[in-house]
Amino acid sequence: MDLKKISPLLSVSPQITPQDIGIASAQGFKAIINNRPDNEANDQPTAAELKAAAERHGMEYRDIPVIPGKITDEEVSAFKDALASMDGPILAFCRTGNRSTTLWALSEAGHIATDSIVQTAENAGYDLSALRPRLDDAVGAAASGGAVATGSSTRSHDVVIVGGGTAGIATASSLLRRRADLDIVIVEPQENHFYQPGWTLVGGGIFTQQQTTRPTGRVMPKQVTWIRSAVAEFDPKANQVVLEDGERIGYRILVAAPGLKLDWERIEGLEDTLGKGGVTSNYRFDLAPYTWQLVQGLKSGTALFSQPPMPIKCAGAPQKAMYLSADHWLRQGTLKDIDVEFNCAAPGLFGVADYVPALMEYVGKYDIELCFQENLVAVDGAAKKAWFERTKEDGSTERVEKSFDMLHVTPPQCAPDFVRNSPLANADGWIDVDSETLQHVSYGNIFALGDATNTPNAKTAAAVRAQVPAVCENIVAALDGHEATATYNGYGSCPLTVERGKIVLAEFGYGGKLLPTFPTWLMEGRKATWMAWVLKTRILPPMYWYVMLKGREWMVKAGVKPRHQN
Ligand code: FAD
Repeated sequence: MDLKKISPLLSVSPQITPQDIGIASAQGFKAIINNRPDNEANDQPTAAELKAAAERHGMEYRDIPVIPGKITDEEVSAFKDALASMDGPILAFCRTGNRSTTLWALSEAGHIATDSIVQTAENAGYDLSALRPRLDDAVGAAASGGAVATGSSTRSHDVVIVGGGTAGIATASSLLRRRADLDIVIVEPQENHFYQPGWTLVGGGIFTQQQTTRPTGRVMPKQVTWIRSAVAEFDPKANQVVLEDGERIGYRILVAAPGLKLDWERIEGLEDTLGKGGVTSNYRFDLAPYTWQLVQGLKSGTALFSQPPMPIKCAGAPQKAMYLSADHWLRQGTLKDIDVEFNCAAPGLFGVADYVPALMEYVGKYDIELCFQENLVAVDGAAKKAWFERTKEDGSTERVEKSFDMLHVTPPQCAPDFVRNSPLANADGWIDVDSETLQHVSYGNIFALGDATNTPNAKTAAAVRAQVPAVCENIVAALDGHEATATYNGYGSCPLTVERGKIVLAEFGYGGKLLPTFPTWLMEGRKATWMAWVLKTRILPPMYWYVMLKGREWMVKAGVKPRHQN
């Protein structure tokens, strides 16, 4: 957007898009006047689309379409009436901004000296000298627009970030490296921050629990205001979030990064038995050590590993737990007495085919039974029984009962309730953003990243690392009133720990396109390598704490898409 301030009440600009309306809202505009008739150009958004965008942001919207060189007195009156009656600041636009400036000039004629009007327009880049005779002819006082609206008394900030997990902290730090003076708030209820990718290693006896957590206060950038509360509601029309205690926090830009919800409740009986009776999950910080305890204790019997329907965070994590367990049993000489089963709701082992052969080698090595299209639906820990819904070839389903000695559960996952029930959500409940710019599709001053979005990438911390530069570039652009042009390519990574000392490093973007970070002579992702193990266990954890969370964007860069042509 190329905004030109004409008066304290009014700015004008060339053609805007629905996304620009969100940016205008972030800049404090309260109303939009559209002076361009529909269908002047093929790529022009319709008045209806712009009106809908303005309404989503709680802004007033008015159509006063005019034809260049043919502006009537009625149209001038309508514009004057809009300036007098709409809550400002107001943004008026046409193709170039010239018609809006002309309407303003004619509505002020007789009220402000002609010379001043022409000079003001010239300062904004519009030559109205040809309008002088009409301005001179105009008589009568015009209504003044009044004072600039100051907004409510709600606390308001440049950027409010919902969630101080991986994405929230990394985004705040990266933003501050771009603009050190930004007023940023993070709303985060938890006292402790977690490095979740380390939990698989805790469950495999490689990391301690303590290696995967730090107090939130220690990872929070110093310049950020941390509000220790949870957001209960989004109110994008008012540019506010509502906290659990009812307090409202205002923003110019909102970053939604609240992660996802682990939906333990959806498996009948699970909550009563988790953490005892042989039922565990690496998806919980407190339970990952119990996984290792169970693995060490199991000498014979049946070990079940479940994987729910997608999407889940770190789609490889259910398998990682299984391979590391089987590797331990193999080394202990007990694997021959343990039946290992992978009960997977999906019809295949891994979403990107290139990595399947390497994984299948380990399935064979550990003699794992693959049970596809079996979804865990109920557990009775005391009776050591689990029930799966199996989808048969004809599409019908049946309930299958299985006994176990150890059960590693990956829970079903969904968007958090306060996201799912908000205007930010798509039909499936995830935050509805453009998959490249990560800008909300309906609210231009809202961005989202991490596990909570609808984007079809692998939900991983690696993905967040690649999303942060694009989001931060676009936020800075939006704060300056420009279009979001920085892009994210869908990169995500899943280091599949197939044995102690070896990893299949899956790295891919949108559409399953392989996006390896390193040349194949150094690290071939489609094979199990020791180098990838070193990366996962030695390099990535310090990179997380000291690089990513500190706003250092190493080996990661946003793409750029062309600016929108009006
Ligand atoms: P989170 O890091 O979960 O942060 C969300 C934050 O939002 C939390 O701090 C939460 O308290 C806060 N929040 C929630 N609700 C509210 C609210 N109402 N108001 C305010 N704040 C709120 N990724 C990899 O890259 N590699 C791996 O090997 C890997 N392995 C994994 C293994 C396991 C077992 C697990 C569980 C995850 C793994 N991941 C891995 C995934 C990775 O950890 C996540 O994708 C990443 O943490 C997502 O970041 P996020 O900021 O979106 O969510």
